[in-house]
Amino acid sequence: MLVSKDAPERNRQPLVVGTAAELAAAIEERLVAAASSGSGATLGLVPTMGALHSGHESLVATAREHNDVLVVSIFVNELQFNDTADFERYPRTLDADVEILARAGADIVFAPPVHEIYPGGRPLVKLDSGELGSKFEGASRPGHFDGMLAVVAKLLHLAMAPASCPVPVKYRAYFGQKDAQQLVLINRLVKDLNYPVDVCSVPIVRTADGLALSSRNQFLTPEQAEAALVIYRTMDMIKGRAENHEPLFLDDVVELFDREPLVELDYFELVDPDTLVELAFNCRDTPFTGEGLLLVAAQVGNVRLIDNMPLGY
Ligand code: AMP
Repeated sequence: MLVSKDAPERNRQPLVVGTAAELAAAIEERLVAAASSGSGATLGLVPTMGALHSGHESLVATAREHNDVLVVSIFVNELQFNDTADFERYPRTLDADVEILARAGADIVFAPPVHEIYPGGRPLVKLDSGELGSKFEGASRPGHFDGMLAVVAKLLHLAMAPASCPVPVKYRAYFGQKDAQQLVLINRLVKDLNYPVDVCSVPIVRTADGLALSSRNQFLTPEQAEAALVIYRTMDMIKGRAENHEPLFLDDVVELFDREPLVELDYFELVDPDTLVELAFNCRDTPFTGEGLLLVAAQVGNVRLIDNMPLGY
């Protein structure tokens, strides 16, 4: 594990920039300063939509530990919202986010206006998330992953060391395992389009009773949040069976969801962690072996919750 040469200054206000030009200049200046000892420098990017919580903080802490220069972006990307109401009510808390990022030691916060990211309006040339982007979350949220790829492709470019930067740079970008399908697609984006960046994934952060943290959880009533724990309970039950190499009997979870009228199950699937292909052969009535990833989505009121849990690794 690489550790920064100099301990980052905590509780120092990060530089907040809104344009690509300011971002490039700030990144170059800090990389040059970090590399002053003669070696190269490392650069980490954490893309977010803001409304930061401990899940984001865990990504930022990991990226802080690994890199000399740390950029966190905050941009609520309309292109990935298939539901206008969801986009409009999405929490926007920039001042509080910057305070959190100061404590977490971010160097630069990139919080661009829409026209800086999409200067020509909606992109004419689009990325297509293909078959992988049209199942699971993509099936329930058409266009979501194409919109996500559009912004991630741009952010990875914008936060790269500028061509003028005189020092060798190792570039890393950090994403949460919470959005497992997003992570698989970003790995494909980077591979398929030869981005010079290492994609690093960070484990899911949950509440003490198991609910995966999400910026949208604040819209849940206490009763809904309590009912939503069925997601963690059922995944944990299946994980227990996997650890004992028992048949998983995935269908058992349906009855447990049926007992929670506030929670409407969308899917509960076991997939290959790298390709997200369903592992039906390995989950019904044969002892579980190997590796898999449980993927779950459920609707609670007007909040869509997604979660996942690795099995066998
Ligand atoms: P968002 O702001 O929701 O777009 O999320 C920004 C990044 O934080 C994504 O890479 C997410 O996967 C990650 N993230 C969101 N929630 C969590 C969580 N509970 N644990 C870990 N990472 C998370």
